[in-house]
Amino acid sequence: MQKTYLRADESFIHNLPKAELHVHLDGSLRPQTMFELASEREVPLPVSSIESLASYMMVPEGSSLEGYLKRFELTLLVMQDCDALERIAYELVVDHAAENVRWLELRFCPQLNREQGLSAEEVLDSVLRGMRQAENDVAERGQSIQSEIILCGLRSHSSAVTSETAELAVAYMRHGVCGFDLAGAEAGHPVLNHRHAINRAYQAGLPITLHAGEGLGPESIQQ
Ligand SMILES: [Zn+2]
Repeated sequence: MQKTYLRADESFIHNLPKAELHVHLDGSLRPQTMFELASEREVPLPVSSIESLASYMMVPEGSSLEGYLKRFELTLLVMQDCDALERIAYELVVDHAAENVRWLELRFCPQLNREQGLSAEEVLDSVLRGMRQAENDVAERGQSIQSEIILCGLRSHSSAVTSETAELAVAYMRHGVCGFDLAGAEAGHPVLNHRHAINRAYQAGLPITLHAGEGLGPESIQQ
């Protein structure tokens, strides 16, 4: 009997309703937005055009985890005020809706957006404002998308700071936060350093995800 296969061309994939469960807010800026935010805020970039910024931000395949994390340092330079955070979150949701994503879980560590004095709550509220505005605008166009946040603790932070992030995640549970994650450089930063934060979020009922095995291999997953 002859088998028939569905042809999964681009429009077929586009039209499928999708869920995006793993996207980093600070890894998802439109190059043009990053460029504009940097010039408005006089943040120096290593390149001088939007096109070269787009290619600079592409990490060559096979690069180390640290190679990826270097790019995050650059995006974070323009993610230190409420307006920028709101805009970036707004665009991320709108861009996913344009790809027919209906459920979006975006993740980030709010402690990294506090270089200019924002509180973690101000960071989170700004991102949530952008997300909710985007959902409303998408709905007005007759489409639909729902988005939630997974808050990340960073392995390289002290256990006190990740515990603070876990408390924040618990406080915003059912108000925009749907999970707690551990991310960042693995070498020298074992997951067990953050046992308290993970237990706090887990016992409060938050689903947990852990980045592991990207920087150190299987032994990091076994931890
Ligand atoms: Zn990730």
